[in-house]
Amino acid sequence: MPKVPETEFVWRNGKLIKWADATIHALSHVVHYGSSVFEGIRAYTTSRGPAVFRLKEHIRRLVDSAKIYHMEVPYSADELCRATAQTIHGNKLNACYIRPVIFRGYGTVGVDPLGAPSEVFIFAYPWGAYLGEKSQQEGVDVMVSSWNRQAPNTLPAFAKAGGNYLNSQLMKIEARAQGFVEAIALDTRGFVSEGSGENLFFVRNGTLYTPPLVAAILPGITRDTVIQIARERGLTVVEGDLPREMLYVSDELFFVGTAVEITPIRSVDRIPVGTGKPGPVTRDIQAAYAAIVTGKDSAKQDWLYHVGAD
Ligand code: PMP
Repeated sequence: MPKVPETEFVWRNGKLIKWADATIHALSHVVHYGSSVFEGIRAYTTSRGPAVFRLKEHIRRLVDSAKIYHMEVPYSADELCRATAQTIHGNKLNACYIRPVIFRGYGTVGVDPLGAPSEVFIFAYPWGAYLGEKSQQEGVDVMVSSWNRQAPNTLPAFAKAGGNYLNSQLMKIEARAQGFVEAIALDTRGFVSEGSGENLFFVRNGTLYTPPLVAAILPGITRDTVIQIARERGLTVVEGDLPREMLYVSDELFFVGTAVEITPIRSVDRIPVGTGKPGPVTRDIQAAYAAIVTGKDSAKQDWLYHVGAD
């Protein structure tokens, strides 16, 4: 993984501070108990300057994640949107990745989280393709993980919480050790769930399939975007439980997520997906997504939050 490209400023609890000052005490609650919620967001270059894609939906999910964990957020959703814009603007960034994080900070010891103060940070920095330079063009090779996603009565999948990513890390470590770039997990019932940091779509006989919210997935904003794009193009999209073998007999398969955008999968467990090359539906959705995020689709301007506009 590449090193984080440092930028000048970080937004911390209401103001921009120097990148090097964005530090916390090692006894902070989050360090010991994984008590954080966060977002991964992208801004793109448009003809009207940088625009954040579906910022309001990302901030809504951040606030929801905090609510699930009874975490106090001392800022409104609007304030967090403006803070995001300020972080991009302050760093003179154009296309970039944005990482807001809210966590339980320093002040108490022990599991009980309620006395630990919340801290809010927003980072923004340039960031390219998540699964490698050629991943979006050529597709990626993945495996089915031996790790399952969490059962629904253990850790809530709706919350994008730091602790959930321990499971993702195990998936990733296993995949890397076996020479794959990414892994797909099943849920505890044995149905297909998602990648370590992406949702999944299948194409078979021209119909799109994607695992449902009950399959331990994060309700992805790119997933929602792709469902809307596909339906507008007249494709049928089925949200339903999918058995593992659908991974092997689909015509096309692709990951979706803020980081990976739309990334074709060309093999699973070394079995080629379809012809082993990215297929026409994947390509079409990739192109539609690229047009939307860069402001070239006039029908989808509502999804863009222009940074200069505040
Ligand atoms: N699932 C997981 C586990 C993720 O971490 C992500 C990335 N946030 C996604 C799915 C995709 O979500 P989104 O499209 O909102 O980025």
